[in-house]
Amino acid sequence: MNQTRQYPGAQHVVIVGGGTAGWMAAALIARFRTPAQARVTLIESDAIGTIGVGEATVPLIQHLNSVLGLHEPDFVAATQGSFKLGIEFVDWGRVGNRHFHGFGDYGADIDGVAPHHHWLRLRREGLDAPIGAWSMAWAAAGRDRFAPPQAMKGPAAAFKHAYHFDAGLYAQLLRRHAEGKGVQRIEGRIAGVTRDGESGDVTTLVLDGDREVTGDLFVDCSGFASLLLGQALAVPFVDWSHWLPCDRAMAVGSRRAGRLTPFTRATARAAGWQWRIPLQHRTGNGMVYASSQISDDEAAATLLAGLDGEALGDPRPLRFTTGRRARFWERNVIGIGLAAGFMEPLESTSIQLIQTGLARLIELLPSGSADPAIAAEYNRQTIGEYERIRDFLIAHYALSSRDEPLWRQCRAMALPDTLAHKLATWDACARVPLYDLESHQEPSWVAILLGQERVPRGIDATADTADPQVLAKLFADRRALLARAAESMPAHDLFVERTCRAL
Ligand code: FAD
Repeated sequence: MNQTRQYPGAQHVVIVGGGTAGWMAAALIARFRTPAQARVTLIESDAIGTIGVGEATVPLIQHLNSVLGLHEPDFVAATQGSFKLGIEFVDWGRVGNRHFHGFGDYGADIDGVAPHHHWLRLRREGLDAPIGAWSMAWAAAGRDRFAPPQAMKGPAAAFKHAYHFDAGLYAQLLRRHAEGKGVQRIEGRIAGVTRDGESGDVTTLVLDGDREVTGDLFVDCSGFASLLLGQALAVPFVDWSHWLPCDRAMAVGSRRAGRLTPFTRATARAAGWQWRIPLQHRTGNGMVYASSQISDDEAAATLLAGLDGEALGDPRPLRFTTGRRARFWERNVIGIGLAAGFMEPLESTSIQLIQTGLARLIELLPSGSADPAIAAEYNRQTIGEYERIRDFLIAHYALSSRDEPLWRQCRAMALPDTLAHKLATWDACARVPLYDLESHQEPSWVAILLGQERVPRGIDATADTADPQVLAKLFADRRALLARAAESMPAHDLFVERTCRAL
């Protein structure tokens, strides 16, 4: 236990749970509040443990690592990690279809118009290469090559990267960091929660063995249990499973086989989809599926049949309901991570949501007690971000022309108005209307829309009248430049081996 100096006026922030969410909260709050402003305690139960999945991320995590001062090679080595340039989707639009959602775009605007309009124009003239051929992320990922963008020049530097990592090792890294900043860790199971009779605020957590922890502000990172937000404060759950019907997962590690790919693979299956996440010491695999369509045994068999290396144990079952708490900040409790909500890991957005939730909390939270307006603003922003990600995930299912019952159901269902508007606008003019607090920008939507062969009726008028021969040359030149740049990068496994191999 840390013996740090106590400041009598400091706010006592109590974090419930020591999974990825809990330790990210501890590390970030300790980084952005002085001990005189906030004293931070984290309670976790070794007996309950953590969910132990969550290995793929989005580029935003680089910002988190950088504010915590985690040096990239050390971080990748410590977490047995690898680099991620995007997600390869296999068999999504239809069986046999393959497309890539890369971190980056398809080049600069041409005559002030996004390149996908010009690509659509060339497609009318007979071009048959996918839009992904003009993504630097895919030029590298498709060749299993990697170098960070800062090592590249000009258009070949216009991409981003994220990581695959062992989330358990990442939590340990964050724990060391947080404890070094004075965060106190208490091991024990919380058996009771006491609230103030007047305000309804949570005041005290009662741990096994009659220990008590009092606090001013509570960050609920207790996972699916949602101990404070869901249970003690009874904030209702907004269920989205009618839009995202998968409700179970099986996860299993496998022995590393072949090269270390710098991308996550998501392969659609009859009743869900399978992930493949390459790490240094193993490959992470899982099957997300709808229990209304397939039994657990069938899901496990499908998962095991689709591995490219020997399984390192039996598949581990997990159950979930897709949706979110009606409010994320209620009284003096803020829910972060699985305690706040869950959406399937199709676009690796859960750790992102933890990070953005914490950034918002740190930005909005004053040193003194919180005004209800702050909670309302936190909820407005967080609900917006969740709903936009929800729409993006639903689109992956709704756009598919696969013919199994799950996919037919998703194609026929009524969509959220926001998504229906987005698709109708795309169909009419190849533009993607973006809402406030949208994580995925137009190139991400274009990757999924065109990847799943949703070809719009109209395109931009400038692209419509552009000279196809001039355009074809521009596209051919860019493609050749990206190919040369990618060939100049080292193989991804070699890059990892040389710069950030786990000891
Ligand atoms: P947990 O890891 O469950 O931690 C909960 C903590 O609360 C634990 O420390 C536990 O001991 C403690 N606790 C609970 N009850 C008590 C109690 N009574 N007393 C004391 N302590 C208690 N995210 C991604 O970003 N990328 C991915 O690729 C990805 N893949 C996923 C795949 C699946 C199948 C699932 C289900 C999730 C995936 N996620 C992914 C989400 C990711 O796993 C979570 O967002 C992340 O691990 C955070 O979990 P958590 O910390 O909220 O909860």
